[in-house]
Amino acid sequence: MDKYAVFGNPISQSKSPLIHQAFAKQTAQAIEYTAIKAELDNFSGAIRDFMAHGGKGCNVTVPFKEQAFQLADQVSERAELAGAVNTLSFKEDGSIFADNTDGAGLVEDLKAHGAPLSGRILLIGAGGAARGVIHPLLAFSPLELVIVNRTFYKAESLAKRFESFGNVVAMTTEDLKEAGTFDLVINSTSASLSGDLPPISSHVFNQNSVAYDMVYGDKPTVFCRWAKEQGCKIAIDGLGMLLGQAAVAFSIWRNVMPNTQVVMQMLRSEMSK
Ligand code: NDP
Repeated sequence: MDKYAVFGNPISQSKSPLIHQAFAKQTAQAIEYTAIKAELDNFSGAIRDFMAHGGKGCNVTVPFKEQAFQLADQVSERAELAGAVNTLSFKEDGSIFADNTDGAGLVEDLKAHGAPLSGRILLIGAGGAARGVIHPLLAFSPLELVIVNRTFYKAESLAKRFESFGNVVAMTTEDLKEAGTFDLVINSTSASLSGDLPPISSHVFNQNSVAYDMVYGDKPTVFCRWAKEQGCKIAIDGLGMLLGQAAVAFSIWRNVMPNTQVVMQMLRSEMSK
């Protein structure tokens, strides 16, 4: 049976084994998929060990996405732009191909919800997740993509990195107060995990804005609840993105695209138990 895994630290919370096992069943693929905790100082050792024991590929999550990028022999164009990867494929000759499917997962979910991808977009956060989604968002030629982050210089450096792909600018949280409203507001920070809101003005929303939080849970996240309180009609959590990035990774490995909707229902009911 072909072996796959997700590597992270911590990893016990990961839904990836559940998702990939469901995809495998749905598409009649005989695979094993486990969660592996890599030591913080030995990510590459853990990957090499998995390869030596017959691993065919893996997902990579916090905090190893940049190290995985460094480890790869070949990377996709979108991964090269992001400088971080979440999907590794191990080739017969022992080399590693890396891709970043986070952006594809986000964009598919936004499209499925009819989100306004060509309007003004606000991206909150400038970590690994933000890096992976900027180029796929700019591919829709939004009027403007504004990046704001608690630590401003990181937002500034991301805006610079992607400036040749579209109208992308960094703003401070002060500038944002005067920047009007946005059609789509994406929270790519991990703030919701600790029940916090990112430090942005509520004036970014109008009643037609769509809010998206990359974090997900069994209940609406603090950011989704707050967006609705500010008058946003649609606030979406990141479970669809999680499934979308997993589906693209699965199709890279197995050459078949699973249906995410069926698995979404299964996951929501698992999470509500
Ligand atoms: P990183 O650690 O690389 O970046 C974290 C980001 O969150 C930084 O911009 C950081 O700001 C900001 N941040 C953290 N805490 C706060 C806070 N209390 N207030 C304001 N800003 C804060 O993480 P990632 O970018 O890899 O992941 C971010 C989140 O996205 C995680 O929660 C992750 O689970 C989720 N995610 C979800 C995916 C999905 O499929 N649904 C896929 C990928 C990620 P600063 O720079 O100032 O420290």
